[in-house]
Amino acid sequence: MAFKKTLAKSWRETYDNIKPEHCILCGERKTSYCNSHTIPQFVLKNIAKSGMIGTLNAIIELPIKNFEKDEKGVKKSGVIHSICISCDSKYFKDYENPENLKNVITDKMLAEIALKNFLMEIVRTRIDKEGLNNKIKNLEVFTNRPSELLNFQDWDLEDFENEVEEHKNNIVKNHTGAYQIIFHEVLPYKVPLAFHIFNFGN
Ligand SMILES: [Zn+2]
Repeated sequence: MAFKKTLAKSWRETYDNIKPEHCILCGERKTSYCNSHTIPQFVLKNIAKSGMIGTLNAIIELPIKNFEKDEKGVKKSGVIHSICISCDSKYFKDYENPENLKNVITDKMLAEIALKNFLMEIVRTRIDKEGLNNKIKNLEVFTNRPSELLNFQDWDLEDFENEVEEHKNNIVKNHTGAYQIIFHEVLPYKVPLAFHIFNFGN
């Protein structure tokens, strides 16, 4: 119990420490950010049972099972706390619309999904960096070159920030041809599974 409390406290501190001063998308200084979901809330609500959703741990047993809960509340699943309310309503309105998802998936919708994924990558890397920083401070990681270790996360962050700019640009300028759909089919029934995978790189 005490261990769980310590873990929850350390997560809260991590989140407080990584909270950005500026919205990632518009660059404006903000004091609060909205709960932006990688998978739209209406999708999560659709598959939730009593407001809870099974996480990856509920499907495959990961070694970190004791640390990651098997279930998460809809409001806490895949949430990005780094964009302002106005950007959240401006950049994702096409793919966060159930009617649009049933029809032709446009390049703009794919750009919006890609943007959300890379925002999530930024948040994940910031958490990793903060965790590593704490481990170095608490002497849980021994290195005589701590800054070089942290550089790896900075390089990842730089890559993800460039990706965010590119997909944001694709949305604003309505670019086409940057994304390919391999398979798309609308099923006439509900499937209790939702995930985002965006393949990038070579
Ligand atoms: Zn913003």
